[in-house]
Order: sequence, then C-alpha cells, then structure tokens
Amino acid sequence: MALEKYKEKRDFHTTPEPPARPGQPHRKPIFVVQEHHASRLHYDFRLEADGVLKSWAVPKEPSTDPANKRLAVHVEDHPLAYASFAGTIPEGQYGAGTVEIWDSGTFDNLLTEKPVPQTVAEGIAAGRLEFALHGKKLRGRFALIRMSGKGRKDNWLLIKMKDEMARPEAGTNGRASRKAAPQRQARSTPAPPQRRPAAKHAKEGVTFTNLDKLMYPEDGITKGEVIEFYRRIGPRLLPYLRDRPATLERLPEGLDGAQAPHFWQKNTPASYPDWIPRVELPSEQGKTVNYVLVNDLDNLLYLVNQGTLTFHAWFSRVEDLDRPDFVLFDLDPGQATFGDVVTVANELYEVLKEEGSKAYVKTSGKTGLHVLVPWKEGDYDEARAWAQRLAERVVEALPDQATTERSKAKRGRRVYVDVLQNARGHHAVPPYVLRAVPGATVSAPLRWSEVTPDLDPARFNLKTLFRRLARLKRDPLAGLAPATGRRGKK
Ligand code: MN
Repeated sequence: MALEKYKEKRDFHTTPEPPARPGQPHRKPIFVVQEHHASRLHYDFRLEADGVLKSWAVPKEPSTDPANKRLAVHVEDHPLAYASFAGTIPEGQYGAGTVEIWDSGTFDNLLTEKPVPQTVAEGIAAGRLEFALHGKKLRGRFALIRMSGKGRKDNWLLIKMKDEMARPEAGTNGRASRKAAPQRQARSTPAPPQRRPAAKHAKEGVTFTNLDKLMYPEDGITKGEVIEFYRRIGPRLLPYLRDRPATLERLPEGLDGAQAPHFWQKNTPASYPDWIPRVELPSEQGKTVNYVLVNDLDNLLYLVNQGTLTFHAWFSRVEDLDRPDFVLFDLDPGQATFGDVVTVANELYEVLKEEGSKAYVKTSGKTGLHVLVPWKEGDYDEARAWAQRLAERVVEALPDQATTERSKAKRGRRVYVDVLQNARGHHAVPPYVLRAVPGATVSAPLRWSEVTPDLDPARFNLKTLFRRLARLKRDPLAGLAPATGRRGKK
C-alpha cells in the first residue's frame, strides 16, 4: 500500500499527524508546500495523485526563479489529509518539530497535454513531471526531474519553468543568482516592473479610490473609514478567510437608499488583477465559478476598495473542500425576541458541554447569534447530521422557544436553530466582518458570560470594536482559530 511507509514511521498515539488513510480525490488535484522546522529546516512539496500526496523534501525554499533549481528528495507518500496539517510533531517522533503551510492550491498535470499523455504516477515512474501550480507563492509551470547517474535515485530537481509567472530573484540576474541567492531569498520577490507588469502590486499595495464616499450615510461612515477598519482588523479576520472560497457582499455605492446596488458576488471578474487568488469550482448548475480567496491583507483591501462590505466564507478550505473544519448553529430570531435567542444559546451551550464539545459564540452582526464548534470528524453530511441531533435536543428542552422548522410560517415566535448551512457550497460570515446594515455592526466574538438578556448586538460596530478588543484580555475565539484557520504568515 502506498501509505505503508508513512504508517511505519509514525506512532499515531503520539503524533498529531493524520492517520494513514487514503482520501477522497479532489475535483481538481491539490498541492501543498509545508515549511518543516525539523532537525533541519526544509520544505515538503506534495502533489495529490491517486488519493495520496506524492512528496518531496526540498532543503531550500522553492524558488520562482528558473535559474534556482532546487534539490528535491523523493520521500514516502503522505495521506491526502496531510495537506491541511500544521502543528507540532513531538520530540522523539519522526520529523519532530513544527510544520506550517507555506503555500497551497491546486495544480494541473501538464503531462496530460503531451503527445503521449501520462498520469502523475506514470510521470514519477518515468522521472519527469510537469505541472502548473495555482498557489499564492508558487504559480505557473514547474518541473520535477529525477537526477540521473550520480547520487541516490530519489534525488530530483524542482525547477520553475520559464513563463510569465517566473520571477528572477531580487538583486540577481539569471544565472548569477544561483550563487548569490541561497541565504538571502527569504521570500520570493517579483521581478522589476518593466518585465513583470502584473507583479507590480506586490510591492506597491492597493490603490484606494473615493475615500470620502459615504458607505453608511446614516452613521456618517466613509469608505476611507471602512478601509481603515479592515486594515486594522485584517490580522484577526484573515485566519477565518484564508483558503476558503468566499462570496462577497458588494455595495459599491454604500447603503444609500433602496436604489443603491447591493449584490452577492461569487465569480471573480476577469478584470480583477491576477494577483488576486482564485479557486475554480463547478457550481451546482454545472458552470464554473472562480471563487476569490482572501489570503492576505492586500487581497482583503483590494476587495474592500471594490465595494465589498461583508465577506462570507466556506466552512472548508481548498485543501479539503468536502470537509468543514467547524460546525455552525445559526440562531435566527425571526419573530422571537432576542431574549429567547439568548436562552436558546445558553441551552445549546449546555447540550454541547454534555457532548464534550467546546462551543464558541459570536453575534451574527445582525439580529442573531452564531455558535461555532471546531469539527474534525468527517464531511459536511456528517457534520450537519451531528448538528441536527444536538439542535433537536435543544428543541426538546425548550419547545416553546426553539425550533428546527424550516418553514418560516411554522416557526411562529420561536428561534430557528439553523444547521442546514453546514453544507458544501454554503457560506457564513466569519467573525469580525462588517455587516451591510445601518449602524455598521460587526460579527463580534463574545464570552459566554456576556450571553445574557441585556446583551445588545448593536453595541459591536465599526466605531466601538477596537476599544472592546483592547479591553478584552483574551480573544473569546482563541481555540477556534487554530482549528479553523491555520496561523497567519509568520
Ligand atoms: Mn518533512
């Protein structure tokens, strides 16, 4: 079996690494590069094929400069679930040290376009792979080529092929960089603008326009203030957006009246610059949708400048889109009072506690509350079924205040405990986003001790949030972020 070696090397009672199980192939194969601070820092380069991750250990950071060929030592296959693994492998275990995700995305096997098409496995057997990577750092065509003759037979070279995504290293030119670069190239750097117009942004940041436009006219809040809000909240918000297909709620003219455009954008316009990462996914209607990935502050602020007020994100990440990493209980008051929402939230907290689940709570930013639970157990169907069972227990305890009834008419004045959003393709507002309603309210993390009848969700808004965050000693969602979003870039 492909994962036998992987299994042999590890004690799964001790290491947090995923078990040796093959995974469900993704619709579009994925790649990941993990920065592995083991006894010696290296980068593990992995490509999905045949339900596992074909893997190479690269002693130096992969380069986007075709002149910088990287040694890549072919190592044992890893399970597909390894693609989202980040954490610490304990002392004494194989590979002891920390693992961070350095880059990830999808790839195309370019061998399929050859006169004699080959699969990835066939390419490995033949000693040559060519693929186009769609990551954040690694983009465009790459090759992995087995070195012949000298050395061990598992020594390969990882090479950036020449194309418009190639980026000669800074301060070097072409061949000279092979000597000069190794110690200094902490990160890949775009080429000079005259050669790489598309890369200009990375150094120049986002250009902001119409900063004086009133986005929340009732509150006197300008676009400049919205941008400043997202700039400041970015470091807290990004872990909940990164690598999750996002839907954007765009109001380019702000909330000004019923005529103002207000639309939900799933497909990323082709006119957006090519440094805005996208992931191409089939829609339920069979069309392809280029979802945007909000992976760094420049991505976030560019989209805000385009008039996005609210970001909605999937429950799963590109590494494993079929498996959510949290479960959402959306408590929607409808005709009920907010006091009832509070009662239902507290009952749900008790039910989850009995279940041994750690629950986190935030305002939705509108009238409801969101209860979030980290999820590692399975796919969306399993997550939703589990959530449904717990929701039913809440309804049993509070039949007059809670319901799982889908029909609005039948809910009456009861709080709807909505678990149906735990489904592939659905999305929810992450913590810290602004809502497109008067008051510029924010989806705000809460301590459970604050979930009392006098809680007023409107208190948490663009103007008050940072004061609150400065006062809170501890992030109420600490413990959720590591499960749902790996840490930000170092
Ligand atoms: Mn490694």
